[in-house]
Amino acid sequence: MIPFNKPYLTGKETHYIYDAVNSGKISGNGKYTQKCQQFFEENYGFKKSLLTTSCTDALEMAAILADIQPGDEVIIPSFTFVSTAIAFIRQGAIIVFADSYNDNPNIDANKIEALITNKTKAIVPVHYAGVACDMGRIMELAKKYNLLVIEDAAQAIDSYYTCKDGVKRALGSIGHLAAFSFHETKNIISGEGGMLTINDDRFIHRAEIIWEKGTNRAEFFRGEVNKYGWVDTGSSFLPSEVIAAFLWAQIENLKEIQNKRKMLWNSYYNSINESKLVNVKLPVVPDFATNNGHMFYLVCSNIEERTKLISKLKEKGFHAVFHYISLHSSDYYVSKHDGRTLSNSDKFTECLLRLPLYYDLEVEIVDEIVDIIKNY
Ligand SMILES: *Cc1c(COP(=O)(O)O)cnc(C)c1O
Repeated sequence: MIPFNKPYLTGKETHYIYDAVNSGKISGNGKYTQKCQQFFEENYGFKKSLLTTSCTDALEMAAILADIQPGDEVIIPSFTFVSTAIAFIRQGAIIVFADSYNDNPNIDANKIEALITNKTKAIVPVHYAGVACDMGRIMELAKKYNLLVIEDAAQAIDSYYTCKDGVKRALGSIGHLAAFSFHETKNIISGEGGMLTINDDRFIHRAEIIWEKGTNRAEFFRGEVNKYGWVDTGSSFLPSEVIAAFLWAQIENLKEIQNKRKMLWNSYYNSINESKLVNVKLPVVPDFATNNGHMFYLVCSNIEERTKLISKLKEKGFHAVFHYISLHSSDYYVSKHDGRTLSNSDKFTECLLRLPLYYDLEVEIVDEIVDIIKNY
């Protein structure tokens, strides 16, 4: 069976983990954590980057930094992973779910303004499949209504948004805050892992404290204060050096990983595009966005077609999977949702199909999968 995902190892992970363990500094914020953070800041223009134990944790940190209070409203797409919502729920927020575009699972930026009230505190765009949301429009709204923008960039490493002035900016460097994931299903991994990026100076100092259990320990270790203690709320959001050492090995191969994933993505796209299939639609990458090879998906005509295609692929030895189930109709939230129908989110819930895509996948396998879809 060709799996849907297979974590890729560069071969250097255990070498760096060995080094981290033997250095005697195994807890967080050591040499490897700093190497990783510096890499991301220098290459993607993040003002500050802090490794976390997961993207979920990075989103929780963002919710604390955004000072979300009980009753505050946060606008989130319904077609996303639970973590996007739960980080804000834990602060007592009311989640106001927004719909996707008709042809793209990302939050429909044209539908956000109507959802803004005097209780709205933040907008959380999710760059689905690593494809940029309309950040220009979203940042304009944030400015107009004095809101914070927290990018859920879990899938969006090494992907870009082209601003109106033509400047290309990395996803995760545009919102006030952003959260990335290094879970083993993402492009670069550390098993579990994540990162908070901070692009607004106002939050940098406090972020480090929240990260280190509400203490000013990071400042202490830099020699900026002569003792450290409890100064704010927080938690243990920082990963150990073992995790950071693993991630460093992946970062060293980032270019190679990205090239391979994009090659496979293009191979799927071009061969399906050429065959002009009428019953499946291809992903749409807007002109302002890039594709980072995170995920290749198709949109089937309806749920029955999708179920049949999944079975057909399975029968031939290929594991294809569906994705999110609209959060506004989840067991947990359905009774709290305001009742609006979000038909595009529901359509992607029923019709979106993800195909195998991972570093070790051979392009011949992509051809075989495309042939099955064509003949189906
Ligand atoms: C993977 C993912 C998350 C969660 O990431 P973790 O690192 O597992 O916490 C959150 N949001 C989106 C959109 C994701 O794809």
